[in-house]
Amino acid sequence: MLGARDSAYARETSGFQTGFTQRPEQVRPVASVAEVVGAITHAREAGLPVRVRATGHGTPGNSEGGMLISTRRLDEVRIDPHARVARIGAGARWSQVIEAAAPHGLAPLSGSSPGVGAVSYTLGGGLGLLGRSWGYAADHVRSVDLVTAGGERLRVTADSEPELFWGLRGAGHGFGVVTALETGLVPVTHVYGGGLSFDGRETDPGALLRAWTGWTAGLPDAMSSTFAALPFPDAPMLPPALRGRYTITVRVAYTGDPEEGARLMAPLRAVGPVTEDTLRTIPYTGSGHIHDEPDTPHAYYGDNAVVRDLDPAAGAELLALTGPDAPGMTITQITHLGGALGREPAVPNAVPYREGRFLVRLLSMLQGTDPAAVRAHYARVLPLLAPSALGRSLNFAFGDADGDGHEERARALYGAHARGRLAGLKKTYDPTGLFVGSRHLDG
Ligand SMILES: Cc1cc2nc3c(=O)[nH]c(=O)nc-3n(C[C@H](O)[C@H](O)[C@H](O)COP(=O)(O)OP(=O)(O)OC[C@H]3O[C@@H](n4cnc5c(N)ncnc54)[C@H](O)[C@@H]3O)c2cc1C
Repeated sequence: MLGARDSAYARETSGFQTGFTQRPEQVRPVASVAEVVGAITHAREAGLPVRVRATGHGTPGNSEGGMLISTRRLDEVRIDPHARVARIGAGARWSQVIEAAAPHGLAPLSGSSPGVGAVSYTLGGGLGLLGRSWGYAADHVRSVDLVTAGGERLRVTADSEPELFWGLRGAGHGFGVVTALETGLVPVTHVYGGGLSFDGRETDPGALLRAWTGWTAGLPDAMSSTFAALPFPDAPMLPPALRGRYTITVRVAYTGDPEEGARLMAPLRAVGPVTEDTLRTIPYTGSGHIHDEPDTPHAYYGDNAVVRDLDPAAGAELLALTGPDAPGMTITQITHLGGALGREPAVPNAVPYREGRFLVRLLSMLQGTDPAAVRAHYARVLPLLAPSALGRSLNFAFGDADGDGHEERARALYGAHARGRLAGLKKTYDPTGLFVGSRHLDG
């Protein structure tokens, strides 16, 4: 147990997200399931609300008091190559799973950044690089090991607790501490992937977006792609090649034949002068280079909308409002959904809004910017999508737990029927509300 005076306290309470602070009364770094049970029992007896964290990529907001259970030492990764299943501990990162699966010709349904925690990513749905080919990470989960508020150890499967198994896969934060899960792997060793970039000052971003959305209409499920608009500030901390640039990039991962992948990309190459082309066949172990996201901790705020479709005029206006003239740097990323992402798995789960065609994400750096100012900016931008918005994705809501409109934002994470089912699960497995800080279950 660590308190604020212990030297290890700062290390345990700081994570990838540096924009929001967690100041628990005590930290419990856990290295075994028995220690998780012990920590929960102590919290219950001492009346301490409990938060859980692995890497801190998804810190929902500031928090004060209570107990923080830090799972990063529970980082077991075991592969069963015959069953094509990985057992993943609560503290493991995707990079560990990718490396362990690769020698068997297998890959997990990981996302853009290998540093993200595999378990909480999957519990939140998990929209990955291979999404249109294989669906959400949550669709492949076979079992979840959970310690409940009562200290009970459950191995949750479709047969043992079907309703909890539904909820844990897609809305799984806040029912207890997940210590490990077992999930299916897919037979992927290489992808045709990378990015095709354009200069957003030279080629009209709205026209690029229109070309990309039109292009997505005829694609096979094997092609997953994201459109990104990145207005880099003229800041000395950035590499000279990026400073002051406005880059539009289409990033893809194609699981079919690479030659066919190159052929599919041809119409996009014709839209304007390509400033950078990193498309090639890469081993899945190098999949982190497709998005090349920063791996050093920083401060960020993000929100999103899952939309039925994207009106070209609304898309162009959204890019204009988030472009280089926006107040503070805002990255816009639009991911093509559909394919396997649009199909319920054989055992349905809580991943919402499968009818969505795109996920529109806004991400802002918080260097010297107040989250309230970013929120106010988003309140002008996101209503552009309202006519076709279905709701929000839990995994891509960063730091939005507090501030104006947080209840409305939380409600948009799941539809009314699913919210009722999730509230029922919370009442059953955490009747006193011991676990806090999960937007979709609080309140
Ligand atoms: C750079 C970056 C890239 C990302 N890329 C993707 C992507 O491609 N696809 C995608 O779907 N998401 C993506 N995400 C979102 C990410 O999946 C979520 O933020 C996820 O919750 C992060 O998990 P973590 O363990 O790394 O973070 P943490 O902040 O440690 O955990 C996030 C939350 O999960 C809950 N939680 C953590 N551990 C447990 C546990 N053991 N039991 C129960 N609840 C727990 C807690 O509520 C905690 O607040 C990305 C995030 C970042 C910052």
